[in-house]
Amino acid sequence: MRPLEALAREAAALGGGAARVIPIRPLTNDDSEVARVLQICNACRYCEGFCAVFPAMTRRLEFAKADIDYLANLCHNCGACLHACQYAPPHEFAVNVPQAMARVRVQTYAEYAWPPALGALYKRNGLTLSLALAAGLALFLVLAVVLQGSLWRAPPHGNFYAVFPHNLMVGLFAPVFVFAVLALGIGVRRFWNEVSPGAVTGAAAGEAAHDALRLKYLDGGHGEGCNNADDAYTLSRRRFHHLTFYGFMLCFAATSVATLYHYLLGWPAPYGYASLPKLLGMAGGVALVVGTTGLLGLNLTRHPLQGDAAQKPMDRGFIALLFLTAASGLALTALRASDALALLLAIHLGAVMALFATLPYGKFAHGVYRSAALLKWAVEKRQPSGLRLGDD
Ligand code: SF4
Ligand code: SF4
Repeated sequence: MRPLEALAREAAALGGGAARVIPIRPLTNDDSEVARVLQICNACRYCEGFCAVFPAMTRRLEFAKADIDYLANLCHNCGACLHACQYAPPHEFAVNVPQAMARVRVQTYAEYAWPPALGALYKRNGLTLSLALAAGLALFLVLAVVLQGSLWRAPPHGNFYAVFPHNLMVGLFAPVFVFAVLALGIGVRRFWNEVSPGAVTGAAAGEAAHDALRLKYLDGGHGEGCNNADDAYTLSRRRFHHLTFYGFMLCFAATSVATLYHYLLGWPAPYGYASLPKLLGMAGGVALVVGTTGLLGLNLTRHPLQGDAAQKPMDRGFIALLFLTAASGLALTALRASDALALLLAIHLGAVMALFATLPYGKFAHGVYRSAALLKWAVEKRQPSGLRLGDD
């Protein structure tokens, strides 16, 4: 029995009440490695100005599980502290903060995920699972079209509702969308409760939103950018992340506007090329294709010490699904009057459904957990340090 549990039972026995055992989550090997390197960093502090991780670290002398999860998600994996570190491998201290943080970060996606089994499955087989799910769903939709008639046909006026009626599409997508929002919400709530954030003020929320939307900590702390393949600085990662994120948001806005058109104004699709849903969707699709292609290139050329090799299939699975969604959406827009429309629509819908079904477990979740960690940091930095050292 662990000592605290024993004490809790003893205290309860003395007081005559039932034992209230406080659960203690043990550190994994990856957690212990983060705690080890942070103890060294806490003595060194050379990287204090690089990002929020280091000032947050100096508020702690010991690192419990919740602190480690919080700091791992606050790290943007810019690589700056690896390339600047005098104790990095091959030094015997072997300090590698970005790699240690990346290993814990991926662990948090699975630990806080709901349902946990899906988180663990995605962690092990991210790329295979993403592509197999997209292919399986697309094949299912292709078979559904074939059963209705020919797959190779052009519906009148590019009207894709002639292939899949509007209500059928809503019936297919609404449950997947609601599931994704619910699973992500439960995961983030668990994370938020675990890291004990304190009271959120308007100023803290504003600062966290600003830092998250600008990806402030991908500038390496000096504005010249992160490290990727070597110790040269590059702003590419920040720019490709921005293209991907804002491209995704534009596509989401296009779908939202089209939904309002349909239900509020009674204007059903298809819409012309100059309509707002199409303009938003095409701009978002192009940004997503460029952003995800760039991110994949950076992922393939990344310095092996900066990240966690085991995480690459998960990263690439998310990038592949985003790319497939955007590219098939653009092809659908360009070829909507052609005989390929039904096939392209099945591929596009399969990719979108697979993307939303896997959102809570992989790279998309990192953006949500990281924003939560940024919010905790914005709250924490406004509070007095609990260490009470000297002038603190
Ligand atoms: S990463 Fe290296 S240089 Fe930076 S604070 Fe830690 S020990 Fe010091
Ligand atoms: S990799 Fe970048 S973001 Fe992460 S701790 Fe190091 S300097 Fe900070």
